[in-house]
Parts: sequence; structure tokens; C-alpha cells
Amino acid sequence: MEKKKIGREDFEAFLKGEKDITSYIELDPLAGSYSVFGVNTASNPNYLIKAIYEMYEANLGRKLAVQAVRKLFRSVGSGSVGLNNLLKKEGINLKPAEFLMLVFKLQHQQGWGAPFELVEQSDKRIVLRAKQTFESQVMKDWNIPVCGIHKGWIEGVLGAVTGKNWFCLETKCHAKGDDTCEFVADQVESSWKFKARAIVNGDSAITEFIEHKPLEGKIKLIDDPVVMMPRFIFTSMMNSLKKTMGELPAGGVNYRAHMDMGKESVGHYRKMGIDKANILSEMAFAFYSQMGWFSIIETEWNEVAKTKTMILSHTVESEAFGNTGKNVCFCTAGLLAGIIEESFGIRVQAKEIRCRSKGDENCVFLVTNKPEKSSLI
Ligand SMILES: [Zn+2]
Ligand SMILES: [Zn+2]
Repeated sequence: MEKKKIGREDFEAFLKGEKDITSYIELDPLAGSYSVFGVNTASNPNYLIKAIYEMYEANLGRKLAVQAVRKLFRSVGSGSVGLNNLLKKEGINLKPAEFLMLVFKLQHQQGWGAPFELVEQSDKRIVLRAKQTFESQVMKDWNIPVCGIHKGWIEGVLGAVTGKNWFCLETKCHAKGDDTCEFVADQVESSWKFKARAIVNGDSAITEFIEHKPLEGKIKLIDDPVVMMPRFIFTSMMNSLKKTMGELPAGGVNYRAHMDMGKESVGHYRKMGIDKANILSEMAFAFYSQMGWFSIIETEWNEVAKTKTMILSHTVESEAFGNTGKNVCFCTAGLLAGIIEESFGIRVQAKEIRCRSKGDENCVFLVTNKPEKSSLI
């Protein structure tokens, strides 16, 4: 279908009210194109798609932004349960893959979903392929697999009609330069372990699993209740302890309390089915880091001295205290020690050897084995 040229006189006619927008809607169901005023838009406004991706990109980077878009569109897919119920009422019972194909055919003719080809189907796996999707065209310059809209959509539709949890991977993407966009959807368990591993692997950020119900006063991270705490609580807590017991003992108490907290966290991950020591510690570092406690720049292991050096770009206390001329990160030191102790089943101590609050560039912690206590004779 030849596209109409839109010129000045068209805009003028529109402004004067001589014509309305219906004269400028072009719909070609076979090509899956829908344009209004010569712009491929309306049901799929490209600028909106770009804005959504870029909004997430600002905080998450590109890879995780795609995942966040996926989560958003999972809800869109879930809405298809209404259509499925309607079909059932009419006596039409489609298999999940057939229903998925129908949804995308309907969407495609309105300018949205991709014209899919069904490559494989079983109870546990469905593979779909399309030459490209609209988001792969809009976000082509990202040059990575970008089709989070379709991934989430597929997961949402399949979840709605099967009542099970589905996880969709994009194995090939037009935006990355592949010849097709290919989606592999697998029925998976919706477990804590599965989600936590995705965070550690960098496939998801904790934001994907935060369930915030501000009006009920509840926040959950994956399935665990959490609380939000202002950072200045650290200065307040420290100052109050200092007043009652003096500066050094206060540091010791904070170290100990946060060490226990680190241990508790790792113990919890273990209860949820994580058993490898390095994954336990990486998980704790990833969670605390993403919760705003610190950011790890580098960790070094010294095989000869059996010491671990951890360089953190900021810690919650150094940010809260600002420049004090002293090391202040007793809580973080305790937390790191607790995480390592419980993950590896060893006894360690963590000492802060450089601190941003003292004027150093980073906070640096030296983690060493703790000698067994000599018996008191
Ligand atoms: Zn793609
Ligand atoms: Zn520090």
C-alpha cells in the first residue's frame, strides 16, 4: 500500500477543522502497519517505546533495562486471560502455543506484535521466531538482544493461560544483527533460588523483584519482607552508642551486630537452597550492594598471606558521616566479615585500612583469618 504524503495543506485543513484524523489513518493488516498522519504510531508509538527503554537504561544500564521492560510487559500479556476465557465460552479450546500465536496475530494486524512462526511446542517449551519485532527496529542502535517487550508478553500470556511460571529467553535478535528474533519460553519453577541466582548472574536487578505496597506499609524483596531505612540512621545510631559507651566500644558493638547480620543473611540463602560457598558470598555482596550499602570496585586474594583485600567505592557509613578524618566503617567491616565467615565456614576478621571519611579515595578492608582463641590459662 502506497503511503499518503502528508503536506502543509493537510495540517492546515486539520487545524481549521475541515478534516479530522480519520482521513489520515492508514491500516494495512497484512503488512501489520498502522499509521496516523503518516507516522507509524498510535498503537505502537515508537517514541514511547524508546522512552520506556531509556528511562530504565538511565539507572540499570542496557542489559538490565531490557529485563525491566520485560517485567512491565508481562502484565500486558497477563491481560490476555480475558480473551482466553471468551474463547473457552465459545467452545474454542486452544493449546497454549496456539493461543499465543492467535494473540500475536491479532496484535500484529494492529501494528504491535511480531508475525510469529511457531518453531517448537511442548508442555514445557515453546519456541517462536519472527524476522524482527518493532522494538528490535526502534532499539536497533543498542546492538544487543532488545526484545524485552516480546519476552515479557510471551511470559505473561503463557502464565495467564497455563497458571504456571514461564521464563523466556531471546536466543537471537535482529537488533544484534541476527537474521531473526527467536524466543525460547520454558516453564520453570518460580522459586526464590531461581530469582536470586538471576540477580547474582547479572540477568536481573533486585528492582525486578521488589514488591512495594506503600499504602499498606509493606515492602518485599523476592519473598522476604524488607524495610527502607534512611542512611542518616547510621550517624544517629553511632552517636547514640558513642554517648553511652565511648567511641571504640561503640565501633566494636556495631562491628559485632553487623557481623551477625551478615551471617544471618547467608544462613537464610542457605535455607533457600543455595549451597556453594562462593555463590553464597557473591549473593550477599550482590544483594547488599544493590540495596545501597556499598559498591565493590575490586577484591584481591593474596594466596601467600591468605588475605583478601576488598576495595569499596562507597559505604553507607562513609556516605552518611562525610569527612571526619577517621575510619568510620565498622558496620560494613562487620558485615563483610560475617558474610565471609558464614559462607566459607571459617573465622575471619575484617579491618578497614583506608576510609573515604578519613580522606582516602576508597574504603579498603583487609580480611584475614582469625587465629583460634588460645585457651586462657
Ligand atoms: Zn529481538
Ligand atoms: Zn570507610
